[in-house]
Amino acid sequence: MLESAHSGAFFVVHLTRIVTLAFYNKSILIEGELHMKPLKNTLLELLNIQGVSGREQKVATYVADRLTELHFTVERDYFGNVLAQRSFGAVSQANQGPVLLLSAHMDTVVSFVPGRRIVWEDDILRSSAGILGADDRAGIAIILQVIEGMERHSFNGTLKIAFTRDEERGRIGSNEIASEWLADVDMAIVADRRNRRDIVTSCRRMTFCSNEIGAYWELMGERIGQPDWKSCEGGISDAMTYAEHGIPSINVSCGYQHEHTDWEELHWPSVIDTTNLITEGILNWRSVKVTVSVR
Ligand SMILES: [Zn+2]
Repeated sequence: MLESAHSGAFFVVHLTRIVTLAFYNKSILIEGELHMKPLKNTLLELLNIQGVSGREQKVATYVADRLTELHFTVERDYFGNVLAQRSFGAVSQANQGPVLLLSAHMDTVVSFVPGRRIVWEDDILRSSAGILGADDRAGIAIILQVIEGMERHSFNGTLKIAFTRDEERGRIGSNEIASEWLADVDMAIVADRRNRRDIVTSCRRMTFCSNEIGAYWELMGERIGQPDWKSCEGGISDAMTYAEHGIPSINVSCGYQHEHTDWEELHWPSVIDTTNLITEGILNWRSVKVTVSVR
């Protein structure tokens, strides 16, 4: 309930949220060291590959190899973005299932300082010199972990992956992705946001998706025991590009802070939390009916 004073009188605005749920999938959260180790390895490997904007070739080779190992069909588009897709479960002509796009960018705003060390203290990662590069290598590691985990679930649908070039210089890579490749995408999930619990659904210039979709992802947070995931306004990211194609899009927190500076740091548990949020959202997509009414 919001209260506001206007012309000496009080107007009371009631916000009623009706949420209808029908869950069919039961997801399994990542638990224990067994599943966390590969994610740590992936993250540390990615933090050791140079890929400043315009020179992302080594990162592209790394992610293309990983995606191929995970049985994705992988292509490099003319601009050098890594695009991949794979159908899961009993997808057929009659039952296509959802097509969900997961996206992160490969470039870093500046190069890593040669010889720098990754300092891992308690749950926080930092670089001994220069940027850490968690923006957006954390996003790439999260997406690779999500799709690796899909093997253990009963997802019926298609995942498309876009690891883009040159985001830091103004979304140049994502803007070059062919419209045809994006045409069948039902929802885009970008992993490229600071903080720990943000679901970015808009920026100052435009809205990326409906309130209902924001509410859906907040519910997914509740489902994994993290009700503090909240829709919010954020900055410009590749989510804006996908939204410009008419695709409902969000950009979720990856746990980093102070990106683009020598003080950049990454909160490791948040990397796992975001992996779980995206996994939950994929598994329940279209099995959850969300109605939000504001009156
Ligand atoms: Zn970024």
